[in-house]
Amino acid sequence: MAGHVFARGAGLPTVARARGVEVVDTDGRRYLDASGGALVVGVGHGVAEVVEAAAEQAARVAYVHGTVFTSEVLETYADELAAVLPVDDARTYPVSGGSEAVETALKMARAYHLARGQDRSVVVGRVHSYHGNSLGALDVSGRARLRAPYLPWLGRAVHTSTPQEHRCPFPGHPDGCGARHAELLEQTILRAGPDRVAAFVAEPVAGAGLAACVPPPDYWPAVVEVCRRHGVLVVADEVMTGFGRTGSWFGCEAEGVRPDLLTAGKVAGSGYWPLGLAVASGQVHDTIGTGLVHGFTSSHHAVGAATGLAVLRHLREHDLVTASRERGAQLLTLLRERLAEHPWVGDVRGRGLMVGVELVADRSTLEPFDPGLRLTERLVAGARELGLLVYPAAGCADGTRGDAVLLGPPLVITAAEVAEVVDRLGRALDRLLVTSGAAGRR
Ligand code: PMP
Repeated sequence: MAGHVFARGAGLPTVARARGVEVVDTDGRRYLDASGGALVVGVGHGVAEVVEAAAEQAARVAYVHGTVFTSEVLETYADELAAVLPVDDARTYPVSGGSEAVETALKMARAYHLARGQDRSVVVGRVHSYHGNSLGALDVSGRARLRAPYLPWLGRAVHTSTPQEHRCPFPGHPDGCGARHAELLEQTILRAGPDRVAAFVAEPVAGAGLAACVPPPDYWPAVVEVCRRHGVLVVADEVMTGFGRTGSWFGCEAEGVRPDLLTAGKVAGSGYWPLGLAVASGQVHDTIGTGLVHGFTSSHHAVGAATGLAVLRHLREHDLVTASRERGAQLLTLLRERLAEHPWVGDVRGRGLMVGVELVADRSTLEPFDPGLRLTERLVAGARELGLLVYPAAGCADGTRGDAVLLGPPLVITAAEVAEVVDRLGRALDRLLVTSGAAGRR
């Protein structure tokens, strides 16, 4: 299809329809959606009750400005969210996606400190992280390739380490790695000036930048302790990990963390509405009072709230959080078995239905491939030919080198479909070895 869409290149198939975990194009080709787009479609494609809730709200009243009216659906959504969010006395600010949620949380952090008479403006992010492509969120992100063209517009945030268990640089790993990362965080805070640091932003399980690297168990308690000691707000970016993706309602739960601010997106609207959420604890909210100078035309959207509420109830009523935990464990086990002998598979990791497969040139040293080989791109294309959609996470080894794909299917995936995903990905990887074998050798 050629046209006037500012698109991502020629040759994309044209989508026709989707149901559950399956997407069909206009040529009738069927794809198993092992990535839910970009780990978005939590409740699955084509869920009638979500569509109906959105349509019904749009018919009743689609839009009023969020500063002029509230709506019953928005109040109900915020109440039901508060029951599942790992944030004390949670106050939700709904926006139109993950990047907007992160921007909003950053402004909340700044507003919180200003309200307390503190001029804190520095935000600490982590290397290889991804928090969005708008300039504030990109500044906090650590992904070198995404930052490169925009460096003149970035530079207010600073970055600390992020755990990569399979590449851990610390002696004596794994004992005490969390403490080592916490030391590095503290050094970063001290270098920036502890009275200038407003917030630390991190994903509970690293997503697009590191393809589902799970931190060691002592990581989060240690970094949170450092933040608390220096009055730095803890911002958990749960845009990818939230709403059941990692087998608990939110990734923070597994880490025993109650953040001051939390961001969500993706599964929140499950693709039926571009929904993001910035959430503040009651204490942060009350301190800010009327001090948040901020707003978007489409924040607090009634149709967005109706969609989010229907998704939330669907997740709850079908116990999709437990399903994510169980199917995720199955996916991890089957992938590890199937790929155990593959010479290019360096690591298979994840939590719940958020699983990463990393490719390396050398399994013993974990040396990444030359990025010029574009192996991630070729694997994604090869999988698509076999009717499997996976999400690319190139640059996962050191920001510029490293190949991986991220799996994050709808949480409704069945055991048989999980087995089929593993079979197709295994075949795509075997084919890659055959077609790229010579090129792949260093
Ligand atoms: N934070 C994280 C952790 C993400 O994974 C993403 C999207 N991949 C974002 C923020 C940005 O979200 P969006 O693309 O909806 O703006």
